[in-house]
Amino acid sequence: MIESLPQFVPQQACLSCDGCCRFKEADSCWRPYVAPEEARSKGRLAEALAKDIDENNYIKTAEEKGCFHCAFFHPADHVCHVYAIRPFECRLYPFLLTKEKNLPAVSVHLSCPYVQEHEHDGSFKRYVRALKEYFRQGNVLKFVLRNPSLAKRYPQHENEIKHLFTLVQ
Ligand code: SF4
Repeated sequence: MIESLPQFVPQQACLSCDGCCRFKEADSCWRPYVAPEEARSKGRLAEALAKDIDENNYIKTAEEKGCFHCAFFHPADHVCHVYAIRPFECRLYPFLLTKEKNLPAVSVHLSCPYVQEHEHDGSFKRYVRALKEYFRQGNVLKFVLRNPSLAKRYPQHENEIKHLFTLVQ
């Protein structure tokens, strides 16, 4: 497993928000995608995922009162049941692996309220610098390159996404 990634959004801010882990559609593009390597691993994540991942490696959703949420999300207490071992994509959010001119890139999802609040302050700039260093580590970059489907396009949401940097030149 690759090194853990420090979170940009404090846990308390996440817990008080009702955006993440919930989706408008059962097959939303925002459902967590699990890298094949993560799904194939022998660890607790793979075991937890065994019945809750679909044929395209997206975590299945569950419906409640006409809304959908990640199969691992517990809406009553806003808790992720696999938080400590959640997929890479969940750990990276509100940053996203995207494609810029066909190269893997890192972007930020501007819909996150914490990003909206901090996008122009020093904490955001410092985190982006740390993120660049993180992805420069050979094993992290290799993990992304071995699992190319992690870098996605969001054609319906371009106005919510801001490109930050590409991972390879
Ligand atoms: S795995 Fe956990 S963090 Fe990721 S979307 Fe599901 S509930 Fe949220």
